[in-house]
Amino acid sequence: MNAIQKLHAREILDSRGNPTIELEMVLDNGMKAWSSVPSGASTGKHEAVELRDGDEKRFHGMGVQKAIQNIHEIISPEIIGMNPMEQKLIDEKMIVLDGTENKSKLGANAIFAVSLASARLGAMLSGIKLYRYIANLSGQDYSMVRPFFNVINGGKHAGNSLAFQECMISPRGDSFQENYRIAAEVYSQLKQNLKKKFGGVATLLGDEGGFAPNNIESIEYVFELLIQAVKDAGYEGKVDFAIDSAASEFYKDGVYDLGFKDDISNKKSVDEMIDIYKNLVEKYPIISIEDPFDQEDFEAFSNLREIMQEKGVQVMGDDLTVTNKNRIQKAIDIKSCNSLLLKINQIGTISEAIDAFKLAKSDRWSVMVSHRSGETTDDFIADFAVGIGAEQVKFGSVARGERVVKYNRLVAIEEDLL
Ligand code: PEP
Ligand code: MG
Repeated sequence: MNAIQKLHAREILDSRGNPTIELEMVLDNGMKAWSSVPSGASTGKHEAVELRDGDEKRFHGMGVQKAIQNIHEIISPEIIGMNPMEQKLIDEKMIVLDGTENKSKLGANAIFAVSLASARLGAMLSGIKLYRYIANLSGQDYSMVRPFFNVINGGKHAGNSLAFQECMISPRGDSFQENYRIAAEVYSQLKQNLKKKFGGVATLLGDEGGFAPNNIESIEYVFELLIQAVKDAGYEGKVDFAIDSAASEFYKDGVYDLGFKDDISNKKSVDEMIDIYKNLVEKYPIISIEDPFDQEDFEAFSNLREIMQEKGVQVMGDDLTVTNKNRIQKAIDIKSCNSLLLKINQIGTISEAIDAFKLAKSDRWSVMVSHRSGETTDDFIADFAVGIGAEQVKFGSVARGERVVKYNRLVAIEEDLL
C-alpha cells in the first residue's frame, strides 16, 4: 500500500507561452498530486539542462515531448511501486537513471516534475501541510520568509533598454501580510507616477510582472523612481531595495555593455561596475546585489563581497552558483558570495536543492528561494522556502497570476503559523 501507481505527464504552456510539463502522480489508494515546471530566460551556463525537442515545426523547437516521453518510458517504470515519502531514494534513482553531470539525458524538467509531485504526495500521505513536510524532509526548522518584489523589469525579461534585470522592493514590516500590502501600495503608486511622467506605455509589464519603462537613462534613475514611489505611498524609510544585474547577459570579451539592448554601446570594466554598485549602495537602501558580474568571474564577486560585507549588503550568486554544490563550494572557498539564490530547477531535484541550501548555510550565507521568469501557477516553492527555513524569497511582482499565486500561498501559510 501507499505505492506510486501511475505518472501522467502532458504538455502545457508557461507564463511566456512556451511549452512546459504538467505531471499527475497517482497513488494506489487513489490520492493524486501534481506539479508543473518553470523555465528561465537568463539561464546560467552551468544549470541542469532543460530538455527541449528542437523540432522547429512545433513551438519553434521549444516542445517538451521528449522529456514527457522520458517520464513515461524511463522514469515511470522505475518509480512505480515506490513510496512517495522516500524522496531521497526517488531523487537518487532519477539521478542514476539519467547518468549525466547536467541531467541532459532525461532532462532536468522531467526529473523536476517527478521530484515535486512525489513531495506533494508524501505530504498528503503524512497528513501534514507541505511546508511542514519539507521541514521534516530537510531536517530544518520552518520559518516565515521576507519577500523581495521585482517592480522594475529589464535585462532579458523586458523589451526596454534597461540592462539590469530586476529592481526589487522589500518592505520591513512585521508580517508577510503587511509586507505584501505595502508592496502592492508602492507598486500602484509607482504605476501612477510612471504614467504621469512618461505616459501609459511606461506602465507595460515585463515577464515577472514589474513595469518595464523605456528611456530610463540610468540605474540610479530607477532607484530615484522607487524612492519617490515609496515616499508618495507613505512608507519613507520603511522599504529596502535589491538588484539582480544578471550581468552574464551583458558581459562579452572582458566588458559589461549596459547598452546591450540598444544601438549605442555603453561599456564598463569590472572596476567601473564595482564603482556603480558602491555608488548605488551609498545612495539608496540597497541590501542585496545578485549576479553583479559574469557567471565565470568568481574573483570579481569576491572583490565586491569584501567591500559589501562590512556594509551588511548581500552579494548573491545565481548564475554563478546555479544551486549546484560544486559551484557553491568554489564560491565558499574564494569568498565570492555571502548569499545564495536557490532555484530547484537549476539542479533538478528537491534533495539536491536541500543539500545546496545546507552547504550555503555551512558558510553562514543567507538564502533566497526564487521563481523563474517563465512560470506556471504551481505554488510549491512557497512551501519549500518556508519549510527549509530560508530567510528570503523572490517570486516577481505583485501582479500576474503565476507570481501572486505563490505570494498568496504565503498568506495562508502565515495564517497557519499563527
Ligand atoms: C533570475 O535571474 O534570478 C531569474 C529569476 O531569471 P531567470 O528565471 O530568467 O533565470
Ligand atoms: Mg538572477
